[in-house]
Amino acid sequence: TKWIYSFGAGQNDGNAGMRNLLGGKGANLAEMSNIGLPVPPGFTITTEVCSAFYDNGRQYPPELKAQLDDAMAAVEKAMGLRFGDADAPLLVSVRSGARVSMPGMMDTVLNLGLNDQTVEGLARSSGDARFAWDSYRRFIQMYGSVVLGVSHHRFEDLLEQTKRELGKHDDTELTAEEWQMVLKGYKDIVLNETGTPFPEDPQDQLWGAIGAVFGSWMNPRANTYRRLHDIPASWGTAVNVQSMVFGNMGEDCATGVCFTRDPSTGENVFYGEYLINAQGEDVVAGIRTPQPMAAERATPDQNPMEKALPEAYQEMLKVRDLLERHYKDMQDIEFTVQSNTLYLLQTRSGKRTAAAALRIAIDMAQEGLITKEEAISRVPPASLDQLLHPILDPKAERKQLARGLPASPGAATGVIAFSAEDVEDRASKGEDVILVRIETSPEDVHGMHAARGVLTTRGGMTSHAAVVARGMGRVCVAGAGSIQVDYGAQTMTVNGHTLKAGDWLTLDGGTGAVYLGRVPTIPPTLSGDFSTLMGWADSVRRLGVRANAETPEDAATARRFGAEGIGLCRTEHMFFGPDRIGHIRQMIMTEEPKARAKAIDALLPFQRGDFTELFRIMAGLPVTIRLLDPPLHEFLPHGEAELKDVATALGQDIEALRARRSALSESNPMLGHRGCRLGISYPEIYAMQVRAIAEAALAVSKETGKAVIPEIMIPLVGTKAELDLVRKACEAVIADVLKEQNATLDYRIGTMIELPRAAITADKIAESADFFSFGTNDLTQTTLGLSRDDAGSFLPEYVEKGLLPQDPFISIDQEGVGALVRMGVEKGRAAKPDIKLGICGEHGGDPLSISFFEEVGLDYVSCSPFRVPVARLASAQAAL
Ligand code: ADP
Ligand code: MG
Ligand code: MG
Repeated sequence: TKWIYSFGAGQNDGNAGMRNLLGGKGANLAEMSNIGLPVPPGFTITTEVCSAFYDNGRQYPPELKAQLDDAMAAVEKAMGLRFGDADAPLLVSVRSGARVSMPGMMDTVLNLGLNDQTVEGLARSSGDARFAWDSYRRFIQMYGSVVLGVSHHRFEDLLEQTKRELGKHDDTELTAEEWQMVLKGYKDIVLNETGTPFPEDPQDQLWGAIGAVFGSWMNPRANTYRRLHDIPASWGTAVNVQSMVFGNMGEDCATGVCFTRDPSTGENVFYGEYLINAQGEDVVAGIRTPQPMAAERATPDQNPMEKALPEAYQEMLKVRDLLERHYKDMQDIEFTVQSNTLYLLQTRSGKRTAAAALRIAIDMAQEGLITKEEAISRVPPASLDQLLHPILDPKAERKQLARGLPASPGAATGVIAFSAEDVEDRASKGEDVILVRIETSPEDVHGMHAARGVLTTRGGMTSHAAVVARGMGRVCVAGAGSIQVDYGAQTMTVNGHTLKAGDWLTLDGGTGAVYLGRVPTIPPTLSGDFSTLMGWADSVRRLGVRANAETPEDAATARRFGAEGIGLCRTEHMFFGPDRIGHIRQMIMTEEPKARAKAIDALLPFQRGDFTELFRIMAGLPVTIRLLDPPLHEFLPHGEAELKDVATALGQDIEALRARRSALSESNPMLGHRGCRLGISYPEIYAMQVRAIAEAALAVSKETGKAVIPEIMIPLVGTKAELDLVRKACEAVIADVLKEQNATLDYRIGTMIELPRAAITADKIAESADFFSFGTNDLTQTTLGLSRDDAGSFLPEYVEKGLLPQDPFISIDQEGVGALVRMGVEKGRAAKPDIKLGICGEHGGDPLSISFFEEVGLDYVSCSPFRVPVARLASAQAAL
């Protein structure tokens, strides 16, 4: 087996297509090398070695050593240096790289191969002793913490202390001799902490680092990340070993990170940060403040790369163009400049905000780089949520506390937490939380996930916090340096204000502003890009998209977001108003037909008004109205005062009503007296509702001159007989109304399919239904025998233990509930080929479920108004 693939060293064994075998980093290093870009020579140990390692009790394949020696020899030859050579030593970096970039994996070790002999060789061959000793101490620091497990604070504390004693501020001010001193201290730390001297043999160092990368694949941080992101453990990680280039060799050297387009807005401008005379992750570590690359983005006190290193900058512009054209996507590039020569160390698709994803997709399609279809598939539907979310109300009063970098846009307001754990605690209690950290690391990712927004006091636009927050769609303000965070005291101090954990804070990720307290928000305005993409999506999707809405506001929102009708109007939501609930209580509580008729009559004008308004807003688009569904108990008078009100209104004895109330109460209401069962026991309710619908439809038809075709939906049907009975009653009411008004009306009567029995007998039910709407919330509850309101205490554990692939209330259980939907579709269509089929559960707005609904051939999905754009895009992607 070939376990090792070389790049840059005379030959390239890999390419970008080999991501699964070489990991993302290795595959792209080979690809960049293939297209002639300057990549320091190296090789990739494949992900298969990782799998073999774990399959064989943490043993390497026997051929690995020989292959590694050969690959090393090729690198030595390409570089004209030798690994471990006392005069001109080859140094390498050891870098992890899984298929997808994965925080939590081992950090990179740079300058590997240095020891007390080779450091002298490096000093001589480079003619720069300061550089050589700086590199050596960096190596011990990284290897010590990453491979040997020494706490990195030990090293940092020692360095801080030394700098204080020397009266020096920047690392770059230390001389060779001073670094030698620090280094001696570092070695003592290693000896003290591990009980063994620092390994001097470069071969030991190399195998130690490789082992640490493979070992890190199973560390708790990586396991957590994989679980959060559904990454199988079987994928494994690759290891990249690469010859070093040095950004810390002087003023004509630098290291940096850049994006080919602005990852916040998507604007087609070059965007990046760099540091002169620095190495590796100094840029993102927040030790020194990185400088902008392009002059046009710099403030007067800054030192843009364009001016400082003009040759390398011009090269970088060419690389930017070339990589974007080659990969046809926005790239996130890591580079180093050694003595004015540019080297590329990594490229990958850049993480971006939803707004940027949208803009980049559209721009690239318009630039001819990608097709419209590709543009559609580039934008993750769920990310559109970010664009629809509120912004700070510009008219609201606010007190600005500080300003940081606008690292990830949007407005977030919440209570402060200073640790990821505290965020999770508070969020699980339903609080909105802002995570406040000096800087973030992969250990904080789960807290960032649970937070509304992230505030850091250190780090730039490419810092960990910024990159991760943008990727997750969390609001982020980074590097707000005037804020002082004290983890011990759990406080942040700024401008004379001290805020504690639990105090309110507001972030504006678009401007970088940090505000005291809670600032009100307003809905966002949607960009032209948004409607362009939606237009493209609409032109390719087959599924219709409707909204679940009953209030005029929701209906208006739904239309604004492009809903093609209402798929579910839950009429019970119309009964809870203070002017209405009394009537419905009287209706249920009385046993007198006359009193009941009176109560219902009182409700008619309300319902007629509701439907009239809805039909007006929807202007001829289909509106599916579900007749009263919820369990009776939701309408029963609860306390004594409510009972008294009903007694007074009905002129009845309160004791009799109390008895009636207990007679009506149920022990399992979700499977009790609800849905059409209610309509069957109290036909007057449905009759009133149907009358209101018919009268409203006629009125709006007349008013607008446009036919309103109401769709009346009967809930919780389990047998054809139920539907027949209710349907007949509805038709009789409509006939009455039409006779009274001497009018005609086109209408449909259909049913929800939300009980397993309904799906199983869908052929029979279809004979009496003009349409089906799959009520997948109840269908999930009844199929899994799982109460949505009670599952919270154990369902998460099911998902965690892999007993269910995901929460079946969020993404449809395709194998079980989905099979019933499929059966309902097939049987329904077999009995009535032109029957209209939709779905109106929460799943109607879930991209994964939508692709399933596309596959089974539903006609439309219906979801909450804010999910409508998500559903339009997901439907388009499902159709491609
Ligand atoms: P991460 O996956 O965390 O980005 P990398 O393996 O990309 O880790 O390494 C981080 C940084 O270390 C790189 O961006 C680069 O600056 C530096 N680095 C890695 N390998 C080399 C090398 N061979 N020469 C110089 N710098 C390197
Ligand atoms: Mg890193
Ligand atoms: Mg990197």
